[in-house]
Amino acid sequence: MSYNPKKQAEHKERVDSAIEQAQEERGQVLIVTGNGKGKTTAGFGTAFRALGHDQKVAVVQFVKGNLECGERNLLEQLNVPIHTMNTGFSWNSEDKESDKQAAQMAWQQAKAFLSDDSFDLVLLDELTYMVTWGFIELEDILKYLQARPTEMSVIITGRAAHRELKAYADTVSEVRPEKHAFQQGLKARIGLDW
Ligand code: ATP
Ligand code: MG
Repeated sequence: MSYNPKKQAEHKERVDSAIEQAQEERGQVLIVTGNGKGKTTAGFGTAFRALGHDQKVAVVQFVKGNLECGERNLLEQLNVPIHTMNTGFSWNSEDKESDKQAAQMAWQQAKAFLSDDSFDLVLLDELTYMVTWGFIELEDILKYLQARPTEMSVIITGRAAHRELKAYADTVSEVRPEKHAFQQGLKARIGLDW
């Protein structure tokens, strides 16, 4: 497809007119789901975008345990509140009850963030699995999303987001894996994968 300035201008006009028609301004709920790579990085990318505007951000990481990750290191340096569920990789864990307890502790923290109107953005990384595994009630999550401060946005990441969660969200992006380095035998890499 070749570059056509006339077509670009027409496209810009359409987009501008759609933007003009958007009147409502409030915090939004975004879900980044699907099997492809990029969900957590999209969540943290948005967190850093908000921080770049001096907004207040809070993060809860469900699942990841105490494994090192670069995004958390940086947020800690910036004094951004970040709670990480402390069970290690859940799919390695034998102890379902302690996983559930850790999930509920993380959810307590998330609820406190979701009720605090000083936050502009709350990132709930890998929350979708908590619903899938029955660790946190879907109804409770919906209740806290609905009751959140009007100006607060929330990003939820993780595979297989529940359809009711997606129905409630304002924006839902599905990341589709076209290919992944792992399939070519490439090892996960610091700075790229964690
Ligand atoms: P990232 O944290 O890189 O944004 P993600 O949040 O989309 O990835 P998760 O499902 O949370 O992906 O999985 C985390 C880890 O699994 C990452 O190291 C990522 O590179 C890897 N991964 C993600 N998608 C795939 C895939 N389709 N095949 C193999 N590995 C994957
Ligand atoms: Mg992820």
